[in-house]
Amino acid sequence: MMRQASLAAWLIAIVVVSVMVAMMCSWRAPGLGLYLRDRLVQARGPLTPPDDIVLVVIDETSIARYGRFPWQRGLTARALDTISSSQPKAIALDVLYSEPTVATDDNDLADSIKRAGNAVVAAQITEIIDQSGAPAVRWLRPLAQIENAAAGVGHANVSTEADGEARTLSLRKADDHAQALWSIAVETIRVGEGVRGPSVRDVAGGVILGLRTIPVEPDVPAPHFAPRQTNVPVDTLRADRMSIDYVGPPGSFSHQTFSFAELLDGHVAPQSLRGKYVLIGATAATLGDHVTTPFTHADGTAGEQHGELMPGVEVLANAVNTILRSRFYSDTPEWLAVLLAALVAAAVMGSLAIAQGQFEGVKQLGVLFGLLAIILATSYFVFVHWLIVPPLVPALLSFATAVPLALLRRSLRTSADLDTRITELTSANELLLLSTERPASSLSSNPATLIAHLTGSEAVAVYLESRRGGRYRLVASHGTIVAPTLTEDEISLEVSGAQVAPHYSITGGSPLGTKDSAETIPAHEFEQDNSIRRNRQLTLRLGHDGRSRGALLLRHLPQHVRSETLRLCVEIATSFIANLADETGSSALAPLSRWQLPRGVEWKARALGVLSRRLLARARFVDRALRAVEDGLVVADISGRIAFANPRAAEILGIPERALVGSDLFQRLAETEHQGAADDFEVDRIARETLMRLIIGRGAVEREITVGEAPRRYYTLRLAAVMSADDGAGDILGLVAALSDVTQQHELQEMKTDVMALVTHELLTPLTAIQGMSEVLAQFEVQEERRREMHLAINDEAKRLSHMITEYMDITKLESGAHPLRLLPVRLTPLIERVLLLLNPLAAQRDIRIVRHLAPDLPLLLADADLMAQALTNLIANAIKYSPVKTEITVEARDAGGSLLVEVSDHGYGISADALPRIFEKFYRVPNVEDTDVPGTGLGLALVREIVELHGGRVTVHSEPGVGSTFSVRLPLAPKDL
Ligand code: ADP
Repeated sequence: MMRQASLAAWLIAIVVVSVMVAMMCSWRAPGLGLYLRDRLVQARGPLTPPDDIVLVVIDETSIARYGRFPWQRGLTARALDTISSSQPKAIALDVLYSEPTVATDDNDLADSIKRAGNAVVAAQITEIIDQSGAPAVRWLRPLAQIENAAAGVGHANVSTEADGEARTLSLRKADDHAQALWSIAVETIRVGEGVRGPSVRDVAGGVILGLRTIPVEPDVPAPHFAPRQTNVPVDTLRADRMSIDYVGPPGSFSHQTFSFAELLDGHVAPQSLRGKYVLIGATAATLGDHVTTPFTHADGTAGEQHGELMPGVEVLANAVNTILRSRFYSDTPEWLAVLLAALVAAAVMGSLAIAQGQFEGVKQLGVLFGLLAIILATSYFVFVHWLIVPPLVPALLSFATAVPLALLRRSLRTSADLDTRITELTSANELLLLSTERPASSLSSNPATLIAHLTGSEAVAVYLESRRGGRYRLVASHGTIVAPTLTEDEISLEVSGAQVAPHYSITGGSPLGTKDSAETIPAHEFEQDNSIRRNRQLTLRLGHDGRSRGALLLRHLPQHVRSETLRLCVEIATSFIANLADETGSSALAPLSRWQLPRGVEWKARALGVLSRRLLARARFVDRALRAVEDGLVVADISGRIAFANPRAAEILGIPERALVGSDLFQRLAETEHQGAADDFEVDRIARETLMRLIIGRGAVEREITVGEAPRRYYTLRLAAVMSADDGAGDILGLVAALSDVTQQHELQEMKTDVMALVTHELLTPLTAIQGMSEVLAQFEVQEERRREMHLAINDEAKRLSHMITEYMDITKLESGAHPLRLLPVRLTPLIERVLLLLNPLAAQRDIRIVRHLAPDLPLLLADADLMAQALTNLIANAIKYSPVKTEITVEARDAGGSLLVEVSDHGYGISADALPRIFEKFYRVPNVEDTDVPGTGLGLALVREIVELHGGRVTVHSEPGVGSTFSVRLPLAPKDL
């Protein structure tokens, strides 16, 4: 509402100002209007000259023939006779015959004029100095006999304006004695049309001439003719002026122009004069006045210059033509000019308002030029077709005023809008996390207070280096008032950037960076500064990379502050001033009151600079913070396109950060879960289900994903929608996925399950047996033989229990990392030989032959010899245990290009396909009829796998029931991660 009112006020103001400027200028400088009218006439160009006006001229040829002018009047009389014999409509003699010459000549001329009967003669008004010495205006009339013989007498004055241009014709002129004469043009037409003299008269707005009314220019002041004699009443005559519509530049009548010489030589055919207006006058350059016309100096159609002036007789011809053809210019009234000026101003603003958006500059230029073209074209059209002289000056001036004003208004409004945006941004500061514009009383946010608590100092001050350097100003303090500024010399201890490692970890106490910061501020350095300690004041320089940024002052420092504590304080203070530096210039962002003028461009640039610096600092901080999160973090848009991924996420998904951004989140997750082989259909299904739950259900999605094989890692994937509002409402802006490593928890859980299985199943069964038998032994008399058996059974079960517990403990120790590998170069062949030697009795018991295929020069293996021997023992013992008697087993070891391969094959019972995937699980035993009595724990193969994987290798099995089994152990020669 407010905005619309101000817009309307602006609009009206601009229109009013434009109209005022336009009208003032056009009133003050009427020449502008005349100039533009001339331009319109020029633009229109020459018209077809009329054929009812003929000029008979005293030109250069005639002068050459008959000598210098004035000629003998008898010559003119002859010419006049020739003309009148061809019966023209009227003859105008635009030559002054006011001086008497030879009487016969004068009479000759008067006679021929009389004979002609339709000749009009010229009089002229001149300024003279009368007898009293005062200037006076008098008529120079023709000789009495000539005037009496003529059908009319008209004034032949050509009135020119300041620029020498004859734009108008004075229809009537008068001398001091109010003796008025109509123009010779009027008189000629009057005579030509046979109108009686007195019927030519003034009426309101024009002069009546026969049937036509000649309109006159309205605003010409009427001169007062006050005769010297006071008793004569004042007569008021209107100075009637009519604009001449020029047919064209000088020479436009040339096809109807004859020279005197031609005429007297009889070269002019009588019919070319019959019924026409014949105007007699001088065109020779040496004779008479020549005036400028609207066509003067204008380019002709063929590019020629019409620089010549126009002789009086041609002006007369144009004037006669204007009256005859009624080509009268009509001026527009003032109110219309005002209205048009206002319309133009409004149109300028309207079109500028429309031309916005893309390519604004070009569009605006376009509409402005368009508007200008419309104004000019319309003006041209109305001038050419209806002879209306348009108010071009007010229109153009209004245009020229409205354009800059409208542009100024727009720039002011944009400027004010920008100010508002800046103010909004400034006031949105609370959104920005690290704002330092907190209330001063907030102690918790004051780093000086925190440092004081940490060190036990009584007074702490943090200084920020001023922009010019060398001086430091107080930015935070705690305790007794300290100096507001500090100079370079007052800093007592250099703690350079290299010494205060930027990656100092506060929580762990151990540096995260490569440099050991615990050593970078040697403790002795502080101890050497005992003098400072005695004063109990310490001033530390703050900053990284040798660049000083501020200082930390600690006063009344207790004797025993650890250097780690000091380093922590330096870090806190440095972080504080780093954030503070981004805030400098904030004072420039003072909010703007509503009615103030828009601020300057420089202020805006400065304010935007401060704001963008602040926003960038926030963005950097948030970015750093997200990157520092220990969990993998992925932010995606609603379609799953990844917009951000932190380094941890990249590590978990096994794809570089850069490659992650822009790719599909669900695809990536599926690939990670299925080791690169993601089924598109499956991906789509998961994506759909997840999105349904997140977006429609507005809930979080949480599930566990497994990544990798050996070692396998477990992550909890939490997907949530990013909402525009906090309460779960609002638009969904995107998705955020967090991946937390839960491998440890997972392993702990597994271990718990194992222990439960061990206790409930594997331990309880033998214990129940032992318990049962020992109860029988205690309560009943048992036969000697039976008792021995029972004792043996109890012993066996106990041994099995202890064996199982030992084996279980071994695996658990290995899994939890409690048993560190003792890696040494090991020769595999002797190791296998030793294992076989120990297993020989077992093999001999079952009459099983062991075949060795051990490659002679196997490379050294980096391994824990005891564990490796244990693993091989378990494999070979299994082969012996699970083979029928009198069979053969093969132990093979060979170099398999970069790794060593040990294979144990037997021709035993084999393992069924459904049991095969489970045999490496703890406590799993294949339910086989053949080997039910074979003692075992189901832990042997689990231990084998754990040992082999700890060495970076892999154990695989190939087995066919009834044919035999082959266990292959592949060990890398140069284990990567060991
Ligand atoms: P156990 O202590 O029972 O031997 P293992 O973990 O060593 O436990 O073996 C698990 C199961 O795998 C055994 O119970 C057995 O059924 C099967 N198995 C292991 N090695 C062989 C083999 N060489 N031939 C056939 N079956 C085997």
